[in-house]
Amino acid sequence: MRSLIYLDNAATTRVAPEVAALMRRCMLRDYGNPSCYHGFGLAAEALRERARRQLSVAVGDPRGRRGRIVFTSCGTEADALAVLGAARARASSGRHVVVPTFEHKAILGNVDALRHEGFRVTTVAVGGDGVIDPAAFARALRKDTVLVGCMLVQNEIGTIQPVAEIARAVRARRGDEVHIHCDAVQALGRLPIDVAELDVDSLALSGHKIHAAKGVGALWLRNHSPVNPLWRGASQEESRRAGTENVPGIAGFGLAAEMAVARIGPERERLTRLRRKLLGLLTEGVAGIQVLGTHAVPHIVAVALKGHRFKRLATMLQEQGICVSGGSACGVPEGHTHVHAAIGLPEDTRAVRISMSRYTTERDIEQAARRIVQVARTVGLTGA
Ligand code: PLP
Repeated sequence: MRSLIYLDNAATTRVAPEVAALMRRCMLRDYGNPSCYHGFGLAAEALRERARRQLSVAVGDPRGRRGRIVFTSCGTEADALAVLGAARARASSGRHVVVPTFEHKAILGNVDALRHEGFRVTTVAVGGDGVIDPAAFARALRKDTVLVGCMLVQNEIGTIQPVAEIARAVRARRGDEVHIHCDAVQALGRLPIDVAELDVDSLALSGHKIHAAKGVGALWLRNHSPVNPLWRGASQEESRRAGTENVPGIAGFGLAAEMAVARIGPERERLTRLRRKLLGLLTEGVAGIQVLGTHAVPHIVAVALKGHRFKRLATMLQEQGICVSGGSACGVPEGHTHVHAAIGLPEDTRAVRISMSRYTTERDIEQAARRIVQVARTVGLTGA
């Protein structure tokens, strides 16, 4: 097999060495339980609280005046806490939920669970450009709507969603009666995030997408927004999420967020240059290749190919050492996903998602593009 080129950073990222060093310290030296009132406990608590401040800064709430970070085990749990917790807390005033068709399964799966609890769900369709229309969203609202959700960056095609405009449209009709949740897992550290500007009630984040470890996430939760905990136990995280905290993961997540936010601007420029180079090489090599979605973050590049031998494409890319996804990490590599269906991609067309990070080099992009073109030609795929 050829040398591996990792271009699946929307699935997960390599842990930054600085983060790994801090986590090691938390495991070997400052290993106390942050709920304990002694030297070890206080050291662990200080690490956890520093991370909470770092994440509050990362979402534009530096003094924690608007809300609070609740640590979770991952982005999925943060989404579940917001979706299930907010809907259940408001169930006595209504049982209707609105989400776009192309949300991550971390949202859709939990919305489905609400359906089984008797909630009604309206899904908002998206156009071929992969961007939600705020007016369409507003039209889906009802008198009994208690929860709406919209992701900030679509994980399969990278499109940036007009969350602030959606929130404005929702607030204009229903004020604070509706909980507005935003999944910002793919946006953190890639776009500046400001919870006041977005005017959301909650925002889900995940560590492993920004060079922290797997197994840690967070929910920013607006003050006075009612959210029921998913389970009961001791009073960690102000009783919103019982269970002894993963302090190494949390401390590393805080540092990773601080590092990512500090370099958003220059990284965005660098990744935009790499994106341009990648797309240039792919369009030169595969006639008619189609880029999915407009107004996308630079690090996620989704391209569509037409043909019938997609299984062969996935196998050959893997043999060539190209580590990319078909859609999301959670789907079948050669599959036609719910997101592809949502943006109207025909059944005989498949997408390849190439996603970059701060460790992706120009050489990686040149080599990967060469190998992808070679594979597409061998398999007989063309542009969509
Ligand atoms: N939301 C989005 C948009 C994602 O891309 C992902 C992960 O792929 C998640 C939620 C779930 O995050 P985690 O893997 O931390 O559970």
